[in-house]
Amino acid sequence: MYLVSRHGDPAEPGRSRHDPARGIQTREWPLAPPPDHCPALVLNADFRPLSYFPLSLWSWQEAVKAVFLERVNIVSHYDRIVRSPSFEVRLPSVISLKEFIPATRRPAFTRFNVFLRDRFTCQYCGSPFPTHELTFDHVIPRSRGGRTTWENVITSCSACNLAKGNRMPHVCGMIPLSPPFQPSAYELQENGRAFPPNFLHESWRDFLYWDTELDPV
Ligand SMILES: [Zn+2]
Repeated sequence: MYLVSRHGDPAEPGRSRHDPARGIQTREWPLAPPPDHCPALVLNADFRPLSYFPLSLWSWQEAVKAVFLERVNIVSHYDRIVRSPSFEVRLPSVISLKEFIPATRRPAFTRFNVFLRDRFTCQYCGSPFPTHELTFDHVIPRSRGGRTTWENVITSCSACNLAKGNRMPHVCGMIPLSPPFQPSAYELQENGRAFPPNFLHESWRDFLYWDTELDPV
């Protein structure tokens, strides 16, 4: 249940109604986090995240709205209640869509997806960079007839991009570490799993691969 009575919470009977944060302890937060720090992990109807990277998260407002519209099921909660004059809502930490959304077979050809395919690593020098320090490079320069396609565009750092200029790969000796290719949605999802989010609520761990260990049988 996400709705709780205004007059008492069975799970936390001693808590002051005037200070909902008092006395709540979680691993990540010494006190109950403010609502804006309570995003909900969004799972598809098969209980896998809609997206790993960026991780599919909704703000608490979006999540609560979807709950009221009965578009999602609540899988887990925060220890955080938001009040309005007419109701109280325990914020969901994990929700699952009621209707399955199939992944698109051919991911959009975007800068972000090129970076994700190449795991945010310059394909010339092999160094990883934050997104804002990355650019993309045409392996065969556009001035030599190279096209802007999955098969001719790679992730590059600014220095390598500058060094290569408009030269052909074999002329300047800058060969991509792996040949560019059209990735599948599955391949992008797999790459995305390698990037844990900055914030990881403990209720998300069952649905993600990060920081989880299974006990040997
Ligand atoms: Zn580089």
